[in-house]
Amino acid sequence: MLGQMMQQPLLISSLLVHAERHHGEREIVSRRVEGDLHRYTYRELGARARRLANALDGLGLAMSDRVGTLAWNGYRHMELYYAVSGSGLVLHTLNPRLHPDQIVYIVDHAEDQVLFFDLSFLPLMAAVAGRTSTVRHWVAMCDRAHLPADAAKIPGLLCYEELIDAQHDRYDWPIFDENGASSLCYTSGTTGNPKGVLYSHRSTLLHSYAAALPDSLNCSANDTILPVVPMFHVNAWGLPYVACMTGAKIVFSGPALDGKSLYELLEGEQVTVSAGVPTVWQGLLAHVQGNGLKFSSMKRTVIGGSACPPAMLRTFGEEFGVHVLHAWGMTEMSPLGTVCSLKPRHQQMDKDGRCAVMAKQGRVVYGVDMKIVDDDGNNLPFGSEKSGELLVRGPWIVDEYFKGEGGNPLRADAAGRGWFPTGDVATIDADGYMYITDRSKDVIKSGGEWIGSIELENIAMAHPAVAMAACIAAHHPKWDERPLLVVTKKPNAEVTKEELLAFFEGKVAKWWIPDDVAFVEVIPLGATGKMQKNKLREQFKDYRLPSA
Ligand code: ADP
Repeated sequence: MLGQMMQQPLLISSLLVHAERHHGEREIVSRRVEGDLHRYTYRELGARARRLANALDGLGLAMSDRVGTLAWNGYRHMELYYAVSGSGLVLHTLNPRLHPDQIVYIVDHAEDQVLFFDLSFLPLMAAVAGRTSTVRHWVAMCDRAHLPADAAKIPGLLCYEELIDAQHDRYDWPIFDENGASSLCYTSGTTGNPKGVLYSHRSTLLHSYAAALPDSLNCSANDTILPVVPMFHVNAWGLPYVACMTGAKIVFSGPALDGKSLYELLEGEQVTVSAGVPTVWQGLLAHVQGNGLKFSSMKRTVIGGSACPPAMLRTFGEEFGVHVLHAWGMTEMSPLGTVCSLKPRHQQMDKDGRCAVMAKQGRVVYGVDMKIVDDDGNNLPFGSEKSGELLVRGPWIVDEYFKGEGGNPLRADAAGRGWFPTGDVATIDADGYMYITDRSKDVIKSGGEWIGSIELENIAMAHPAVAMAACIAAHHPKWDERPLLVVTKKPNAEVTKEELLAFFEGKVAKWWIPDDVAFVEVIPLGATGKMQKNKLREQFKDYRLPSA
């Protein structure tokens, strides 16, 4: 017997219709590439997204055609999020920090038909325009007055504001299968070619419900959200959708991600929730601490994308009263997998106990199932001391990559159900809190035993002189691999190798303590702000440890 409830497909356009009708007066504030602060309402977002949808129809695109964007966080990007997916096309967000060769590869692979870009990326677009094979229209996201003279380098370049000015704001969002593709994002491809993850309307809406929940990102109509995480990175962790779903005010930071600019925006707009990777928050904290400032409105900050060092978590909480929500996810997971919200039992703990829990990646949000397995694929029970490979499944987790790239990524369990292997190595405690000890490709194996590089980095980062720390495996004739700590120091701070190594004593097992420290000027960061340990491994591949 079937239930007798209305059949209403879960479509992204319905989020915008809802926001317009029920939160029409709520603001969207953007720092623009043009240099000023722009503000309008959900009502205006709705009207402009409909004009844009008409304009897209006018470009002669067919259902599910890919529309690429290379843009910072801003209201025009938000309009694209809704107009492209809402009209049945696929929004393909591209990461502008990738190498031009990779951009050409991804645009061709996705078969993008149109490319929308912020003015900052005009030189990049001019460099790739002649090399891509499917793009029919290039659109600069500005008005005619802001188009620089060298815009002519891209023949037939269209101008965003002109394109939508010519259109009517009446548009009926089409109704189609909720399983239809809505957006596309490529993994950064630290190994091999980048692979595309194709989200659906259904997966995006279910993910938005889950992300907004109180024990997830906890967003409401009373919040003001600043997603520092770029809109070209995994749907900006779902926040542009959650904002419409909840009616929260949303603030976009544009290209200025330095501590001072972010602080001014957070304070000026009285932001209550923000989200980003640890490296961004380092810049913000340095600015706030260096100038004796405080946060007057920020209640929570979501930190994920790479492990949040416990020192950062404590600084936010103890010095500034900002609660850190440590979150974990992947491009393949839309991205949300776990959030570290405490349970009643943890609330009773002392500060140190609570901090130890909050440093974990957290428990799954409803909808995601996770497990860890040993080397032979056997499930490890929650609460076991051992770490294992982390596998996940759920309605917003990838089933296969775009165009079947790389074959079937899933691994079947005994019941024949597919699980996605995350490539992370983790423990799960008795309360279901997951803690990532490493990425499988970053694991250090010393005498056959794993050493958790993230834990070592977290300890080093707690040292007052350390700005950033990466722990990599260095070759050792006896142990195969031993940990080498690569460190950048804070400006004007001094610390010796001996002092730093002594700092580890009593904090980890003796055999985990790194064999050596290498001080460097910079640790290379990837396109999404993560440390590129593969580059460091390459740089230190001939490094001779003193113990070797
Ligand atoms: P890429 O593999 O291209 O970097 P993602 O940006 O999707 O892809 O990154 C996903 C990976 O980032 C996860 O598998 C995990 O290794 C890491 N990650 C994400 N959040 C966290 C976190 N809170 N702590 C530790 N690692 C994290």
